[in-house]
Amino acid sequence: MYHSLLNDATFYNSLLDLDRLIAGQIREGQCPLCSGNLNQSHFLRKPRGVPNGTHPDYAVRFSYCCATEGCRKRFTTPSMRFLSRKVYSSVIIFLVFLFNSKSDEARVEKLNTLLGTTLSVETVRRWRHYWIKIVPQSNTWKRAAFSHELCETLPSSLLGLFQCALKEQLYKGVKWLLPLTTGIYLFDVPFRLTASG
Ligand SMILES: [Zn+2]
Repeated sequence: MYHSLLNDATFYNSLLDLDRLIAGQIREGQCPLCSGNLNQSHFLRKPRGVPNGTHPDYAVRFSYCCATEGCRKRFTTPSMRFLSRKVYSSVIIFLVFLFNSKSDEARVEKLNTLLGTTLSVETVRRWRHYWIKIVPQSNTWKRAAFSHELCETLPSSLLGLFQCALKEQLYKGVKWLLPLTTGIYLFDVPFRLTASG
C-alpha cells in the first residue's frame, strides 16, 4: 500500500489541487499585518521523489506579498505538498517511517529503490528529529494535547489517530500539519478544504 501511494501521481496531483484551494483563499484575503492587498509571488521548488505523471505545477510553491509600500510582507501559503523548506514531498516524509525496516539504512535503500532518489540516512535522521522533537514543540501539537507517548512514535502515531484507510489517513495527517508547513507560524488561516474533510 505504501508503495502504490508513493508512486500514485493522481494522489500527488490531488495535493496540488488542495494547495490551489488554500492559495485561492489566501489570495482573497488581506495582509494580516496592515490589511493591504496581496500580490501573487509564487516561486519554484525542486521537489524530489515525485512520481511520473505529476502535474508540472507540482513544483510551484504558492506565495503572496503584501502590496503596501513599507510592508511588503511575504506570506507563503500552508501546503499539503511541502513541509517548510524540505525538498521531499510531505507524503514521503510520512511514509518512509511506516516502512517495516530493521534500520535507517534499510529504510533509505528501500525508498531509493522505489523512487530512484538519492535520499541519505542523515536526511531521514533529520526528519525523525523533526517529528519527535520539533513537531511536539509546536502550538498545533500543544493545542491538540495528545498524550506524550505519541511523540515517541511520530509520524505513525499521528496517522494511527485517524480510523480510515491509509490514503485518507495521509490526507488528514498532512492537513493536520498544515500550520507547520509555512516555516513561520504567522497566523491561523481560516481555509476550508473540501476533499476528504
Ligand atoms: Zn502588509
